[in-house]
This record gives sequence, structure tokens and C-alpha cells, in this order.
Amino acid sequence: MAVNGTGPYDPQNVFARILRGELPCKKVYEDEYALAFHDIAPKAPVHVLVIPKGPFVSFADFSRNGTEAEITGFTRAVGQVARDLKLEAPGYRLLSNVGVEGGQEVPHFHVHLFGGRALGAMLP
Ligand code: 5GP
Repeated sequence: MAVNGTGPYDPQNVFARILRGELPCKKVYEDEYALAFHDIAPKAPVHVLVIPKGPFVSFADFSRNGTEAEITGFTRAVGQVARDLKLEAPGYRLLSNVGVEGGQEVPHFHVHLFGGRALGAMLP
């Protein structure tokens, strides 16, 4: 079910539990600002989720309340994940669902990184 993208933050959401090590994930990258792991139901040959370590509900929350260091650190981490997965040259897609009409299901900000095949034109 789609969630409200403006909060309040639920510390029991599934990605918060992954961050705390309470639930497993297939990790591909981690640093001070971000964790990246494979989506449990991949929609492309590569489907990775990149999440910030702070308690942000959505991009709306992160872009408003994240510090400069958190925003820069997260953005650089997303780029690093794409390079690590060798997606930079062939290309890839970034997507973030925000709130009910954006189709967001997990209320912790995340970016989907898709790649591994030609993805075609973006459709809503
Ligand atoms: P959203 O619609 O919120 O942008 O997407 C949430 C994504 O999280 C979905 O693609 C879904 O497959 C993925 N997901 C949900 N629960 C889990 C989980 O427990 N582990 C992992 N790795 N992915 C999850």
C-alpha cells in the first residue's frame, strides 16, 4: 500500500530494520551516508535500492531536511554504486517514488537503480 511521503518517520519500516541489521539484505555498497542492496523483487537484471542512513521518509523529506553533507554523501554514493556495478557506460535509470500518488510503498527514502538491459523510453 502506498504511504504518505511527508511523515512522520516510522522507525519500524522495513528499510530501517535492514539498516539496524534486524533484517537481512544482499548488500552491494555501504558508507557513512548510504546503504545499497538488491531489491527483493527485481524489475530489471540489475535492480538495486540506495537508501540514506538518516530517518527520511521520502525525497520530499530528504531534500528539505537533509544536511549538505547527507545530500552530497548520498548523491555520491548513488553514483559510486552505478560505477561499481559497471552501469555507467551502458547507462542506467534512477527513480524515486514519493508519497501516495507517487506509488511509494516503503516509508524510508530510497532511490531505485535499474540497469543491465536497454530500458527504453520512460513511461509514467
Ligand atoms: P517503493 O514503491 O516504495 O518505491 O519501492 C519499494 C521497493 O522495496 C519495492 O521494489 C520492493 O520490492 C522493495 N522491498 C520491499 N521490501 C523489501 C525487503 O524486505 N527487502 C528488499 N531488499 N527489498 C524490499
